[in-house]
Amino acid sequence: MSDAALDIAGAQQLVAEHCSPLTPVRLAVDSALGLTLAEPVTAAADVPGAANSAMDGFAAKAGEAGRRLRVVGESRAGKPFEPTLAEGEAVRISTGAVMPAGAEAVAPIEVVDDQGNEVVLRDELTAGRNVRLAGEDLRAGDTVLAPGRRLGPAELGIAVAAGRAELICLPRPQVAVIATGDELREPGAELETGELHDSNLTTLRALATEAGAEVVLARHVGDDGEATAAAFAEALALADVVVCSGGVSVGPHDHVKGALLGLGVEQHFWRVALRPGRPTWFGSRDGRLVFGLPGNPVSAIVTFLLFAAPALRALQGRPPQPSATAELGEPIARHPDRDECVRVRLEDGAAFATGPQGSHILSSIALADALAVIPRGEGILPAGTAIELISLEP
Ligand code: AMP
Ligand code: MG
Repeated sequence: MSDAALDIAGAQQLVAEHCSPLTPVRLAVDSALGLTLAEPVTAAADVPGAANSAMDGFAAKAGEAGRRLRVVGESRAGKPFEPTLAEGEAVRISTGAVMPAGAEAVAPIEVVDDQGNEVVLRDELTAGRNVRLAGEDLRAGDTVLAPGRRLGPAELGIAVAAGRAELICLPRPQVAVIATGDELREPGAELETGELHDSNLTTLRALATEAGAEVVLARHVGDDGEATAAAFAEALALADVVVCSGGVSVGPHDHVKGALLGLGVEQHFWRVALRPGRPTWFGSRDGRLVFGLPGNPVSAIVTFLLFAAPALRALQGRPPQPSATAELGEPIARHPDRDECVRVRLEDGAAFATGPQGSHILSSIALADALAVIPRGEGILPAGTAIELISLEP
């Protein structure tokens, strides 16, 4: 399909149709941050495993104020007091330490006169006071995390508390990034006239990483058909998703489409009625996705956010970014036949364009809080019009 009238939603739909979640893998809990859980996690045992103290103090029988008790030992974290506590006795206890058998409550250190071998409990002590019960947090056999849950720091901690060292999760998509163009030079290189620094390789790699992917290849290739084909062949052998910038138009030095078709990558669309980002190409081979993004730096970012980012989320079993809207803070002219992603800053819920909107003006995306989608059509959208926002975070 190569339909210049394809709109953003239509193109996103085509991408979605070619995305399915990656095959789950078993990973060490410490490697699972940010991933989507692909199995239920149940508690292997009660947590806490035994009744324990909520305070530093003295464990004792319940009783009235003013009791004098003999200190018969200590229960510390990891080192319980083994004997059974009797009437008239107290055990020095730390927060989290196991309650001795026979003890009914804990008198906090602050309400006790500590005389070494003896203590006087100034307050009445009711049964259960300052005692955390076994299984109060997690009960053995309970499902504590359901499949589909995104694993943040707290979820990883819960999994460990539930007894796990490993989790079955959807893996990070492996991404290859390729920047095409004879004019590109490495970051920091001295430039001859007509050369420029390859900013897309860095930006696309960072976007892929922010989207949860693992970048397994990031390389530059010149405007040469054979070299371009070799770079894509390498990328397709390594990666679930290939993202490339530049060389995707119809000029004599644009080799991306020809190289991909030559490698058997099936084209699903080329060209979207979008500004910036019209010549975007999307295809797949054996479930591996290829995004040929335009070379202009803002176009590359916009099309990554619109098309590649949702694909990377879908591969990870993550839901789409929640939709957001704002009001236009100023009038904006519509493009007659292309939806426009305008870089905007947000002030009190109102969106204002950040400045010149050329697809090469990276500085105006650096000032932006979001992209505002201005639907194609005639005339000018007045201030106050509700518009859809696209997050700059993939
Ligand atoms: P292309 O899509 O290859 O025709 O490139 C369009 C414009 O984007 C040209 O002005 C290129 O110099 C520029 N461009 C292409 N690739 C990059 C890149 N990796 N980093 C910065 N600018 C680029
Ligand atoms: Mg080029």
